[in-house]
Amino acid sequence: MTLSTTKESTTVNYLKDYRVPTYFIDEVDLVFDLHETHTTVTSLLRVRHNQLSHDPEKTLTLNGEELILESIKLNGKSLAAHQYQIDKNTLTISAMPDHAELEIVTQIFPQKNTALMGLYVSNQTYCTQCEAEGFRRITYFLDQPDVLAKYTTTIIADEKKYPILLSNGNLVDAGKLAQGRHWVKWKDPFKKPSYLFALVAGDFDLVRDQFKTISGRMIDLRIYVEKGTGDQAHYAIQAVKEAMRWDEKNYGREYDLDIYMIVAIGDFTMGAMENKGLNIFNTKYILAKPENATDEDYMNIASVIAHEYFHNWTGNRVTCRDWFQLSLKEGLTIFRDQSFSEDLFSKSVMRIRDVIDLRETQFPEDAGPLAHSVQPDSYIEINNFYTATIYNKGAEVLRMLKTLLGESVFRRGMDLYFARFDGQAVTIDDYIECMHEVSGIDLKQFKRWYTQAGTPTVTVVGEYHEAQQTYTLTFTQTCLATPNQLEKLPFLIPARIGLLDKEGHEILSEAVLHLKEASQVFTFKNITSVPLPSLFRGFSAPIKLNYHYTDEELFLLAKHDSDAFNRYEAIQCYLLNKLQSAKTDSAGVTALFQYLLQHETQDDFLLAEFLTVPSESYIGEQMAVIDVDGIHAKREGLMKSIAETLQDLFLEKYKQLHAATLQYEFNREAVAKRQLKNKCLSYLLLSPNNMALGKTQFLAALGQNMTDTLPALMGIVNQENAFREEALVIFYDFCKDDALMLDKWFAIQAACKLPDTLQTVKKLMAHPQFDLKNPNKVYALIGTFCHRNRVNFHVKSGEGYRFLREVVEKLDKLNPQVAARMLKPLTTWKRYDKERQALMREQLTILAKQKCSPDLYELITKSV
Ligand SMILES: [Zn+2]
Repeated sequence: MTLSTTKESTTVNYLKDYRVPTYFIDEVDLVFDLHETHTTVTSLLRVRHNQLSHDPEKTLTLNGEELILESIKLNGKSLAAHQYQIDKNTLTISAMPDHAELEIVTQIFPQKNTALMGLYVSNQTYCTQCEAEGFRRITYFLDQPDVLAKYTTTIIADEKKYPILLSNGNLVDAGKLAQGRHWVKWKDPFKKPSYLFALVAGDFDLVRDQFKTISGRMIDLRIYVEKGTGDQAHYAIQAVKEAMRWDEKNYGREYDLDIYMIVAIGDFTMGAMENKGLNIFNTKYILAKPENATDEDYMNIASVIAHEYFHNWTGNRVTCRDWFQLSLKEGLTIFRDQSFSEDLFSKSVMRIRDVIDLRETQFPEDAGPLAHSVQPDSYIEINNFYTATIYNKGAEVLRMLKTLLGESVFRRGMDLYFARFDGQAVTIDDYIECMHEVSGIDLKQFKRWYTQAGTPTVTVVGEYHEAQQTYTLTFTQTCLATPNQLEKLPFLIPARIGLLDKEGHEILSEAVLHLKEASQVFTFKNITSVPLPSLFRGFSAPIKLNYHYTDEELFLLAKHDSDAFNRYEAIQCYLLNKLQSAKTDSAGVTALFQYLLQHETQDDFLLAEFLTVPSESYIGEQMAVIDVDGIHAKREGLMKSIAETLQDLFLEKYKQLHAATLQYEFNREAVAKRQLKNKCLSYLLLSPNNMALGKTQFLAALGQNMTDTLPALMGIVNQENAFREEALVIFYDFCKDDALMLDKWFAIQAACKLPDTLQTVKKLMAHPQFDLKNPNKVYALIGTFCHRNRVNFHVKSGEGYRFLREVVEKLDKLNPQVAARMLKPLTTWKRYDKERQALMREQLTILAKQKCSPDLYELITKSV
């Protein structure tokens, strides 16, 4: 359906080519007539020439894809065929008047839309996804974010099948028609770009609540979910209220419409979408009850709900001028939702997890063929730029800005940004200018974080001068070349640091150093003994730190640093050193873990993070050539040896925490206890002797508490044992009618480290409940195997690579966005040994010879 020719694929869009639109569309009146075979869309546009566009020709070019044009009228008169031009992706009318009313009638086919962009049908429900360029698959339009219009939407459909008809804004009218059909009319009073348009038609369970805003207005909160799942939306609606309260308190932002709706959809490519007043969510970020959702699921729900809600101001009220500004809304909103989760769950653990995520997804991106800056200067397919760089690094850039400006000045900058640009489509430069105005700080150099790709490395050398009682720290920053950017200028880097004495006491109150030069020296006075530096506290900049700590120094930081993140970092650093040395000596590691288990009694959640060995992907990223098998063997060996030596301690802790968490409750304390308990269990289950423990927990928790069920099952499935097959059957029987739990059943098998996992994955693809058209199923089975199960995906025969290529070929014909997401591991071929490089490239070359979507085309051409 959505295949494009190779010629189209090579169209490159450049930031420097941005032009203001030649026309504005101020009002849009849409009528959707939904039928079983097709939908008729009547669109009435109030069009106005843009005086600033310098277009004497007065040409209006509208975007449109896969539309059948039925009729077109200009100011009430039908246009003859020679009065407009139509090609595959545009409709052009020349000699347009300055003001006009344009009526366009098109036919579309939502039932056949597997790309899940535009209007599509999922499980007898109509829904839309318009970001970034989906609206052009609904009707001809100026489908770009700087065209802001007020929308009125009428939906007509069969009343029995589609009793609930939703769109943006407020419901203003409704009525009945002949033959069992009915209609509703929605009006959105706020101007918005087309990517925020939404429509939903279907039959749902509805969960309702209310929220009283800071100024005393009552907001009607509604979550629509698939019939029969209404009991699983209660946590989500509480999370909406938390998010609303948080944004009022922290950013002074109040919700603006009288109604806030969320619809949960099973077939959804993204996590969720912030359409004005009508968010559409992937079911996995709404539905939860203790027996089918883990603590992680609950935390993710809160964070995604907050994210989409926060977009109402950062993205919707103030939107992006063009897609090169994507991080303006995404980096900022991720930063806001990360801060929300820190406040809600745990400041230190959420920070640690966000950094892990950044280092495992964004750092490799920054070091590979797809590296791009937070504000890219070109793209072929914008869908490929919904990346960790735009989102997560974008968030880190704003965190740095807040560190440089300080909390209250940063808040003043945000206030100014909202006040100045409300109702407008703006740029990253506009945002930075507000921050400059409130702080007086020159941010020219800081803006390099937006324009230069690549992860800087900061090398630090400390020197103590006993005679002068001074200590100097020399910071040297470098950044490797990235595609099209060979030379890099120094970044403005905030380094939050502390100094410790040899007992671990602070000898300097924490300071933020501003690194501006390629190399820069800082001198500290009145230092009476050799200090130990604690560098980049809280991961104050997205850099790689290079400082030579001895094992003793890392121990000292791990035990005594006042910054929780740097304690974690010291432990990780120590573990990495051990894993990278020729012979892994585990004695030091077990001694450290023993100390932590016995002394870290204040924060169970944090302790669980401390006891986590770096992932295979993170270890691999540290190496010049990723040694897949060596990393796996060493890491497993180290964990087994920790598990054996500390078996009694783990067991004691496990029993104590298990007794304290028998009843499932979702709150901070209970989550912390369960996290640590299951961390202990994961070590215990590395030994076949403890299988009974896993079996007991699995059987007891199943049907009560997924947080305890899943780690037990994972431990059981990851090794050969008598109960393994039975456990999978029991779990399947329990989850077979629940799509989200079924995803866990697929994922757990795809993640298995046993050698025949690829065969299992292939078999599971033929399972009647696997569906290549459903993104969640693809992510669970294919994504887990190809992206997370390194040792099996990278098997020497190249069979894993061939498998991924074949799947991507099929996916590209259904949903190019999902295909492009899945392809990513193959694009990192340069990081592996010669044999694997050749095998990975071979698959990319086969793909390159085929006709494929622009999404895939861009990734392939950039990586081979
Ligand atoms: Zn977002």
